[in-house]
Amino acid sequence: MMDLEFDKNHIWHPYSSLINPPPVYPIAKAEGIRIFLEDGRGLIDGMSSWWSTLHGYNVPELNAAMQSQMEKMSHVMFGGLTHEPAIELCKKLVELTPEPLQKVFLADSGSVSVEVAIKMALQYWQSQGKPEKNRLLALRNGYHGDTFGAMATCDPVNGMHHLFASQLTQHIFAPAPEPKFDQPCSDEDIAELQQLIEQNHPQLAAVILEPIVQGAGGMRFYSPAYLRKVRDLCDQYDLLLIADEIATGFGRSGKMFACEHADICPDILTLGKALTGGTMTMAATLCTDKVANGICTGEAGVFMHGPTFMGNPMACAVANASIELLLQRNWQQQVQKIETQLKKELEPLKSAAGVADVRVLGAIGVVEMKQPVDNRTLQESLIKRGVWLRPFGKLVYTMPPYIIESEDLTHLTRAMTETLSTL
Ligand code: PMP
Repeated sequence: MMDLEFDKNHIWHPYSSLINPPPVYPIAKAEGIRIFLEDGRGLIDGMSSWWSTLHGYNVPELNAAMQSQMEKMSHVMFGGLTHEPAIELCKKLVELTPEPLQKVFLADSGSVSVEVAIKMALQYWQSQGKPEKNRLLALRNGYHGDTFGAMATCDPVNGMHHLFASQLTQHIFAPAPEPKFDQPCSDEDIAELQQLIEQNHPQLAAVILEPIVQGAGGMRFYSPAYLRKVRDLCDQYDLLLIADEIATGFGRSGKMFACEHADICPDILTLGKALTGGTMTMAATLCTDKVANGICTGEAGVFMHGPTFMGNPMACAVANASIELLLQRNWQQQVQKIETQLKKELEPLKSAAGVADVRVLGAIGVVEMKQPVDNRTLQESLIKRGVWLRPFGKLVYTMPPYIIESEDLTHLTRAMTETLSTL
């Protein structure tokens, strides 16, 4: 048996207390779409381990890629050296993403890739002789990570980071986008953001946003027309657009990248989470030739970032295998099927007393409650029904692995429905 007492007294878990620790469940192994508790019970993973395990767990193709890379070289520094897995991965990323994104920086985690994106934008404007363009415009309800640069771009109220406000760069925040995914975007809907850009553009380096799906800051889906208008405003006022697709990248919203819903291309793009199929930590920041050339012709002449584990060969090799698997397996059909089923099976919750809204996009299903839920009780009840979810605040949501079979998805939505309709 695992030493849960030690865990409870010594180990931080994400956003946890060591005085009043939330329950943590001991997991012995994971296979397909299930994670297995130490006592042998299998739980359907409705979270894809935070958007990452697209193909499920213990995937032979991914294991083989890691195994074979490990036998050649598990790591080598990227300063002054290079290797095939990194070249292959960056080729794939350049091919998969919109054409203007040509340059790739391999980072160690989502938050770091956001730091890199922000530094790229700042260095770009320094090299253009406009160092005063050093602030960002971000959206309320946005979430971009837990490190200091990224924290400063999260929603200042619900972004979980207000405790550090005095240490954070004060950026400018526009209201969260109001028009929903299937709605148009009126002049009024964009008016406040437009006004903020008009007033502040001389000091703005970039707009940063999560395209179409605002994740951890509210699980909100917004109109592609809104995103197009933001792109147009960035062009009009000469601002860079940073799209954070760490959660949405690799098909989750129904398009390979959520920017495709609006048919726009950002100047800088961040990817993470599903990049390695949920096996190893790695992220990437892509940028256009314009941004890269700007940076490299500036005062420093180089881009100022270079972590120890940059371009880790194991992570690159498994990312290559994951992308290949994704492309082989008709992900569009998988995601479409999940979307149709989630819509059908979660829809009835709309009439439940405690439910404020039910929304589905791609392989993401969200039930928003009227009141915050008691996570512990809810999780216990879901676990009894064989399902793993991690609700927060008023949000109970799922983004299952793409390989989930329809019976298992029904099991998952039934557990959600049974548990939530009684609240
Ligand atoms: N951006 C977005 C949109 C995210 O959802 C997350 C992770 N929840 C991050 C950035 C930060 O990524 P990481 O946790 O890998 O640092």
